[in-house]
Amino acid sequence: MKGFVPLRQGATIGFLGGGQLGRMMAMAAARLGLKAHVYAPAGDNPAFDVAARHTVAAYEDEAALSRFAAQVDVVTYEFENVPARTAEVIGQKHPVLPGPRALATTQDRLLEKDFVRSLGVETAPYMAVDDGGALARAVAAIGRPSILKTRRFGYDGKGQTAVRMGADLGGLFRGLGGAPCILEGMVAFEKEVSVVAARGHDGAFAAYDLCENVHENHILAKTLAPARAGAATQARAVEIARAIAEALDYVGVFAVEMFLVRDDTGERLLVNEIAPRVHNSGHWTLDGALTSQFEQHIRAIAGWPLGATARHGARVEMTNLIGDQMDRWPGILAEPGAMPQFYGKAETRAGRKMGHVTRIF
Ligand code: AMP
Repeated sequence: MKGFVPLRQGATIGFLGGGQLGRMMAMAAARLGLKAHVYAPAGDNPAFDVAARHTVAAYEDEAALSRFAAQVDVVTYEFENVPARTAEVIGQKHPVLPGPRALATTQDRLLEKDFVRSLGVETAPYMAVDDGGALARAVAAIGRPSILKTRRFGYDGKGQTAVRMGADLGGLFRGLGGAPCILEGMVAFEKEVSVVAARGHDGAFAAYDLCENVHENHILAKTLAPARAGAATQARAVEIARAIAEALDYVGVFAVEMFLVRDDTGERLLVNEIAPRVHNSGHWTLDGALTSQFEQHIRAIAGWPLGATARHGARVEMTNLIGDQMDRWPGILAEPGAMPQFYGKAETRAGRKMGHVTRIF
């Protein structure tokens, strides 16, 4: 963004979203001498516990958004489904970073895949599906098994369903609420990897090591850094991330989730998703890298120099504590070298991310 004046010490960053990502960003802001004002609807908002100020209001409450915008210097977010109108109302006073192009592109799986392909980067085969007839045509072209995903509002496996042999296509489409979808070919990946990177207002770019992600029940269970992948694949992943950031004129931290496929020609990367925010697969950087992804994001949106991204140790492992895995917390505290981050959520629920623990080897 041209003409952005770097934040002064003591400035206030506004955060949309009160979950664990907002919480860890607010703590990183405090470490750099900045204040956090967190804006979130009523609910369990663990970010409030570590913020100088908070506002409880709906994302559609324009009066509350304007008041919030008047009290902060720049605004960022912890989730990509920020309504365009919300960003627009705040944007009348302050930049919302990452900017509107990043939000629009990553909120819609069809636009996102078209964008990735336009950069000459591979994705799974896909087709738009707007009704039952289009689904039948897409299944005929792409084959089964494949995956039907809503274009918007999907996360952690929600808003998607497998299309297998014999499945009733009309029923699958209606099961996703009849919302606009895409059908994706099922990728026979060897592993899932991601790269977390940052770009500054001045175009500076810094990436962390490519890391490897293990999912259980569609939820990230573990991240290993670096990924067990060839040097050329690691370099290619960073190249892809850089191309994405430049094309979006991106400011802040983002993650690119990819499938690593192995065939006769070696390793290939297919982009699955771009997250325009700090990302669970970057949590290992909090204790496992010279600058955490949270601090890096704050530096980037503040217009400050990016930090070094080198990893501590030969290998870093981050394990999520999901649902009642949180009950392991006393043992984690007793384990030498285990570095916990508990999110302070009021209620433990199945599938809910309650904390994580990092180990350096
Ligand atoms: P997503 O919501 O797109 O991140 O998908 C959640 C998870 O579903 C991914 O992390 C993969 O494990 C799996 N998945 C999604 N899309 C595909 C695909 N096209 N081929 C194979 N697995 C997929």
